[in-house]
Amino acid sequence: MAAITLKDIVKKYGDGFPAVKGVSLDIADGEFVILVGPSGCGKSTLLRMIVGLEDITSGELKIGDEVVNDKAPRERHLAMVFQNYALYPHLTVFENIAFPLRLQKGVFTEEQIREKVEFAANTLELQEHLQRKPANLSGGQRQRVAMGRAIVREANAFLFDEPLSNLDAKLRGQMRTEIARMQRRLGTTTVYVTHDQTEAMTLGDRVAVLRKGELQQVASPRGLYEQPVNLFVAGFIGSPPMNFLPGEVEGDVLKLPFVDVPLSDDLRSRIGDRRIVIVGIRPEHFSDAALLEDAKKEAGVAFDAEVDVTEWLGSELYAYVPFETSQEVAGKLEELDRDLDGEGMRTQLVVALDTESRVRDGDSA
Ligand code: ATP
Repeated sequence: MAAITLKDIVKKYGDGFPAVKGVSLDIADGEFVILVGPSGCGKSTLLRMIVGLEDITSGELKIGDEVVNDKAPRERHLAMVFQNYALYPHLTVFENIAFPLRLQKGVFTEEQIREKVEFAANTLELQEHLQRKPANLSGGQRQRVAMGRAIVREANAFLFDEPLSNLDAKLRGQMRTEIARMQRRLGTTTVYVTHDQTEAMTLGDRVAVLRKGELQQVASPRGLYEQPVNLFVAGFIGSPPMNFLPGEVEGDVLKLPFVDVPLSDDLRSRIGDRRIVIVGIRPEHFSDAALLEDAKKEAGVAFDAEVDVTEWLGSELYAYVPFETSQEVAGKLEELDRDLDGEGMRTQLVVALDTESRVRDGDSA
């Protein structure tokens, strides 16, 4: 196992625009790090540079203490698990897992190969399927065989490129847990690429958010959720996404779409001399006032809203509340929206309520 260190890594394809623009990231030995971001942000390119499938234009990549920029993929001793499993259909599960060991001709005895394959099969609960062919396995089992191959190689690190995107939602959930369990059991350094923020938030020790080839923030899932460094991270992490409410400063109050909020000293100093600000509020930080005790009601900021649509999800109720803004604010929101590639600004509020809430479509609440 080993740490992976990226220093100012840049990737330019041909003469084109850089796909990765100077990324620095220290991945500790045994750590599980997720690279997440929208399509085209450069996460696969970064992973492919780590594994050696893509040249590094500039910067330094270290595995352990060794600079590996110019090392061939097999000299880096990393195991990559791809989206499409890349299993050999004519070989049994046992032989598929044993394949990387047999490639190193004469290095392992038959006995050693069996031990390693059985260890991997036990770790992944594949013991009963060792004599089957891939065609007779479910998608999840195939995925496990692909992981088994990574395990027997006893690699410095595991690299996953969107390994679950071919699976249905339920299986994806199961495999997510399985990958997390396997990684904890083996304690192998792992880098995992996904565009799915649920995977990012549930799997990793730390999550690195990329956008347009640049690292936005690296933090624990909780750190990202509670203290996003910018609007992009705030809007990208969380489902339903964080609400961005435009506010206009007028004297001692901040005028929000539904309510005027008095400006505290703290807020005032954070706002500085800006006149229009964006206030981020997560959907679950709203409540149905009708369900609150008086003390809680008084502690919060209450407002009336016309609910457009509700969605009942069993554990929560989402209520959608449109709002209007002044021309000036609308212009500002459009500008921000362009800047965030349509990820950001909406003129409706999403509110996640307790299912006991009686709020329904068209209600005033
Ligand atoms: P996705 O989630 O869609 O796979 P990604 O975040 O993994 O996206 P990359 O595949 O790393 O993104 O691509 C980053 C940028 O580099 C994109 O603009 C892409 O078009 C470009 N790119 C990727 N591979 C090549 C290539 N072989 N030649 C030229 N440009 C490429």
